Amino acid sequence: MNKTIPSKLPQLIRGEWVNSSCSDWLEVTNPATGEVLSQVPLTTSEELQSAVTSAKEAFVQWRDTPVTVRARIMLRYQALLKKNQESLARILSEETGKTFEDAKGDIWRGIEVVEHAANIASLMMGETMENVAGGIDCYSYLQPIGVCTGITPFNFPAMIPLWMFPMAIACGNTFILKPSEQDPITPCKLAELFMEAGAPEGVLQLVHGGPEQVDFLLKHPDIKAISFVGSVPVGRHIYQTGTQQLKRVQAFAGAKNHMVVMSDANKTAAINNIVGASVGAAGQRCMAISVAVLVGDTQQWLEDIKNAMSVVKPGHWQDPNADFGPLISAAAREKVLGYIARGKEEGADCLLDGSDISVEGFPHGNWVGPTLFANVSPDMSIYTDEIFGPVLCLLNADSLEDAIQLINTCPYGNGTSIFTASGAAARKFQHEISVGQVGINIPIPVPLPFFSFTGWRASFYGDQHAYGKQAVRFYTETKTITARWYDSDIEQVEHTNLTIQ
Ligand code: NAD
Repeated sequence: MNKTIPSKLPQLIRGEWVNSSCSDWLEVTNPATGEVLSQVPLTTSEELQSAVTSAKEAFVQWRDTPVTVRARIMLRYQALLKKNQESLARILSEETGKTFEDAKGDIWRGIEVVEHAANIASLMMGETMENVAGGIDCYSYLQPIGVCTGITPFNFPAMIPLWMFPMAIACGNTFILKPSEQDPITPCKLAELFMEAGAPEGVLQLVHGGPEQVDFLLKHPDIKAISFVGSVPVGRHIYQTGTQQLKRVQAFAGAKNHMVVMSDANKTAAINNIVGASVGAAGQRCMAISVAVLVGDTQQWLEDIKNAMSVVKPGHWQDPNADFGPLISAAAREKVLGYIARGKEEGADCLLDGSDISVEGFPHGNWVGPTLFANVSPDMSIYTDEIFGPVLCLLNADSLEDAIQLINTCPYGNGTSIFTASGAAARKFQHEISVGQVGINIPIPVPLPFFSFTGWRASFYGDQHAYGKQAVRFYTETKTITARWYDSDIEQVEHTNLTIQ
């Protein structure tokens, strides 16, 4: 892998890394320093069309490439990703500001999906049944659907592209990736390694840009399926536009994740996990805990939560003492600061305010420190909106029932967790909660790739989720065959009645 960052990012079209002929370029900056790392093009319509045509042409051969060959590319890709994990993580840290450990984790969670994709032979097996009627057998195949596309967000520039293209391509599809324009360098490196693993020309294309480029892909008749991860308004737009064009769409969107803390919970574990899950990665995780619901006596833990949170510090990714990095952009920082100001105006108790934090040596970083609001009510904007920063809201509930009702009333349903020593409380919570991913004494319950990533309600639009068996369903079409074979020497064939009695 080439470890240097080009001053202008190329695109992967027809198996070649080519520079865009566009006149509009955006800057990719290091969010800790403000330094410009590279420029990313707004891919032109002609270049996008070339990527779609090439992906369509490549599909003809790729869909007939034996499953073992497809699986072996994934095996080689997994080995290359592991070999290059540290150098990839350095690039990822530079363009996102994530701590080095966090950056390695971003890549590792993607590597696990590639490992899962390498099992494609068993994942893509169909079903069979002998003698569904006299002498008649029935069997089904999962077949790839064609050209698929993926639109990814800034906050996991390795993991989320790797949720998509390895699974889609292992299933026999070709894929066009349009990564976030805020941190597209890591996705380019991922694509470079995929080509090095032996992917044939045209199987993966990588284009750049923003809304205009996404809309081109959304509306293109040769694109059969769209995978999206990002914010709620954009997710809705992608789902509505894509399905209107009669495409298959899975759109993973924003979140507001609650952790319920019961009074029998292990106090140290609960508080440590509240802090790590709320401010880790500067709160820029779709599964971050942004609300803790304190039930009963735990409402007396405010001072302890505040003390635990106040020692957590942002910093540059090369500082081993940094607990988390900056926000991705100055605009993201302004948005978060706006919410902190509004929370105070709306009457929440701001126990810890990270608005004015600075990091020595990095005056131009998009820093926001840990921020804690207590006595938040459900009508405040710091509760209703996804802030996507290191801001934690504390709400009170009298009982587990009240906590469940609060969470089920919130429109988002990505993740939630409960901290308790009671199996009965945990069982009630897991059964009654209307959220797709539930942790029991686990703060961020992201499923491993042999399950699926299963957000609900306003956090997901579509039917089949990411990775696991559901991704195989999403990226394939089921063909069911009913077969009868005649002996050539039998002249008179009996009519077989297929009617179900
Ligand atoms: P975003 O919605 O701004 O951008 C996501 C992608 O959509 C980018 O590639 C961007 O170029 C494109 N895009 C932006 N505006 C568009 C428009 N008007 N039309 C078409 N395409 C457009 O999201 P982001 O800020 O990059 O990422 C953060 C968001 O992603 C948060 O809301 C977070 O919760 C969410 N997220 C969700 C999950 C999940 O699994 N549910 C995972 C990670 C992130």
